[in-house]
Amino acid sequence: MTRPIRAFISRPALEHNLGVARRHAGDARVWAVVKANAYGHGLLRVAPAFGPADGFALLDLEDAARLRDTGHEKPILLLEGFFGYDDLLLVAHYRLTPAIHSLWQVELLEAADLPMAIPVFVKLNTGMNRLGFPPEQFAQAIGRLKRCRAVSGITLMTHFADADGKRGVAGQLALFRGAAGGFNFPVSVANSAALLRYPETACDWVRPGIMLYGCSPFPDVTAETLGLKPAMTLGSEIIAVQDLHTGDEVGYGGTFRAGQPMRIGVVACGYADGYPRHAPSGTPVLVAGKRTATVGRVSMDLLTIDLSAHGDFGVGTPVTLWGNGLAADEVSRHAGTVSYEMLCALAQRVPVVET
Ligand SMILES: *Cc1c(COP(=O)(O)O)cnc(C)c1O
Repeated sequence: MTRPIRAFISRPALEHNLGVARRHAGDARVWAVVKANAYGHGLLRVAPAFGPADGFALLDLEDAARLRDTGHEKPILLLEGFFGYDDLLLVAHYRLTPAIHSLWQVELLEAADLPMAIPVFVKLNTGMNRLGFPPEQFAQAIGRLKRCRAVSGITLMTHFADADGKRGVAGQLALFRGAAGGFNFPVSVANSAALLRYPETACDWVRPGIMLYGCSPFPDVTAETLGLKPAMTLGSEIIAVQDLHTGDEVGYGGTFRAGQPMRIGVVACGYADGYPRHAPSGTPVLVAGKRTATVGRVSMDLLTIDLSAHGDFGVGTPVTLWGNGLAADEVSRHAGTVSYEMLCALAQRVPVVET
């Protein structure tokens, strides 16, 4: 017997969600965003399911090399570009497409003697103020890259700060069009939220991430409404039951106190598995498919759930922490975070089952 926690990764769901992205993208090409170990799902595990995408987008050179070494031939976009000159030689070797966001990267490209020229995505900062050239430097950067022997092709990109929120994309899109409109280069601007809500942002290349894993980028729209299916289901089992008397407390700090006699189940799942420690009492879980809620603090290896209304459930009853039947978005909302963080946090120690 092993500890009963498992992460079930559904290939049909991954394929389905890519299909949804593809339909929204229209004629645009689709980067499947697989950064952060494919949002916790496992890079090499999801790569075959995302085979029909037009390319992969991620951060680490090592991950890009892993994709190449396992036979993936399509374009690979490095969302943060390269981090130094040594990287640049590998970028060329592996035929990768770096995002270029700063002048120091342009200078390295100009100084580079590469075995072959590489395509680049040039990033404009339209208000996120993270990565990207300020609008007044954009034309100069593009001009230099156009003349650069190391560069074989240019696509223009930006990233939205609030495509999932109230302000939307209008302001940033106008800025982008103002700075990029004079050039005749392909364009890539849309993340999941923009792709789903603003079809005009699809342009030439889209960059969906979270939607491919079956979660909603929007706080106010469920993944189900968007036609998405959860790719990851985190499941475990009840491994002990406690009958509480009125006034008994549960877990570290005694943050939960039974107001009446209660029956609680102890589940083999804790924050060291990736379940958010900040999930308060009342966070939903499924026990044998029926909804109940956590009680008390989440500890490293265990959490506790209310079984008072489920007298027939006991040791060995399956529990779903998120995924099929319980949206990760709903759990993350209770925990004061987003599904992105929860999926990425899935711990190495959790065995994965591909379904
Ligand atoms: C992560 C990322 C995406 C994907 O964002 P989602 O919200 O997961 O769709 C797209 N573009 C860039 C630059 C990113 O860093």
